[in-house]
Amino acid sequence: MNQEILLQLKNISVQYGGVKALDGVDVALDEGEIVALMGPNGAGKSTILKTIFGLAPIRTGQLLWREQAILPVPHQMVRRGAAFVPQGRRVFRNLTVKENLEIGAFAVKDKKIIKQRIERILELFPDLKKKLELKSRALSGGQQQMLAFARGLMTDPKVLLLDEPSLGLSPKIVKEVFVKIKEINTQRRTAILVVEHNIKSLLEVADRTYVLDKGKIVTEGDSRQLLKNDIIKKVFLGKLK
Ligand code: ADP
Ligand code: MG
Repeated sequence: MNQEILLQLKNISVQYGGVKALDGVDVALDEGEIVALMGPNGAGKSTILKTIFGLAPIRTGQLLWREQAILPVPHQMVRRGAAFVPQGRRVFRNLTVKENLEIGAFAVKDKKIIKQRIERILELFPDLKKKLELKSRALSGGQQQMLAFARGLMTDPKVLLLDEPSLGLSPKIVKEVFVKIKEINTQRRTAILVVEHNIKSLLEVADRTYVLDKGKIVTEGDSRQLLKNDIIKKVFLGKLK
């Protein structure tokens, strides 16, 4: 297959003061792929997403976008086609659902394009369609997470960077979140790099998974194969629901 590598971290190290958050990490993401980042707290998962979006101090290594080395800066990454949905469902609680979506397209000046994008995105989120004029603080946790995804899509990204989208949600809602991740990916061919604790649901939707520990990749591979991996079973499935 002649598929372009959309995004690649090559031997990346990131250091915050004296703390080495990433230590020689290699991660790649192809067009249209869903890739998961797993690992214990403090392993460096969020730092990988922040590195791609230009929010982490890269010490050494290279970041490639469509096989070109770049120095990531947030607004330029948005223009290239990356969208970052940070941890914690950060929606503007005092703004309506519609206003939250409009803000997501801050880089677009043409109102008609914004309207078209909202309409297209709402096809994926029928629940939000009914609540467009509601303040987003009135939404449930699950709906706020959907709004955070929807807002991320307003820049029409090639890749969505999702940090722990299921955190603090009930198991039923977590399932819906993953179904939605898969739907976004199939309907829009958006590549998705997702950090997640919820290993079982994650491995079911992710094509590939990287497992990190202490700033290094310890295992990587086909998600279904990893589910059968004894280390993964012991380390993660034993502990996590
Ligand atoms: P994860 O998302 O896997 O829990 P992080 O990427 O957030 O891990 O963090 C990796 C390491 O970097 C941790 O040791 C964390 O304490 C440290 N770290 C993350 N962000 C900062 C920061 N802004 N300043 C200092 N240390 C940080
Ligand atoms: Mg994190």
